Amino acid sequence: MKVIYPGSFDPLTYGHIDIIERCSEQFELITVAVLINNAKVGLFTTQERLDLIRETTKHLKNVRVDSFRGLLIDYAKKIDTNIIIKGLRAVSDFEYEMQMALANKKLYPKLETFFMVSNMKYSFLSSSIVKEVSILGGDVSGFVPKVVEDSLKVKIKGGL
Ligand code: ADP
Repeated sequence: MKVIYPGSFDPLTYGHIDIIERCSEQFELITVAVLINNAKVGLFTTQERLDLIRETTKHLKNVRVDSFRGLLIDYAKKIDTNIIIKGLRAVSDFEYEMQMALANKKLYPKLETFFMVSNMKYSFLSSSIVKEVSILGGDVSGFVPKVVEDSLKVKIKGGL
């Protein structure tokens, strides 16, 4: 089975990596897909996010890293993959994810959304928390890999 793991990944955290590694054991091919959102300026550019994910997942031979614009269902059709992976951290994720899964199903009935329960160690972790802690000068080494931590430092030193 081939799956897509979509998200903003601004930046990649240990929570994302945990999901990617677990998927890598269960599925034949995982496409980590960075959503290009023109309406929202992120901290990292799309290219930077892709580079960080590639660098961090290079030990996983069945992981591919790509970006997409527009509707996820159109991207899913384009790469001929109809399973979407979503990570669930807390009940707060559930409402939105359920709505998205049902909307996507309505738009493209062949699409299935699989939910993976977050690793308990990382259930508090989000890219926003990482950015906030980092901007305020906190230690994020327990939240993100070293390459991401270093990139955050460079961004923040450069005035974002
Ligand atoms: P965020 O900005 O909220 O960290 P993204 O949009 O980059 O998240 O998330 C992409 C996917 O990864 C979503 O399915 C999200 O639920 C999941 N995810 C994010 N953080 C974690 C985590 N700590 N554990 C498990 N799944 C996560």
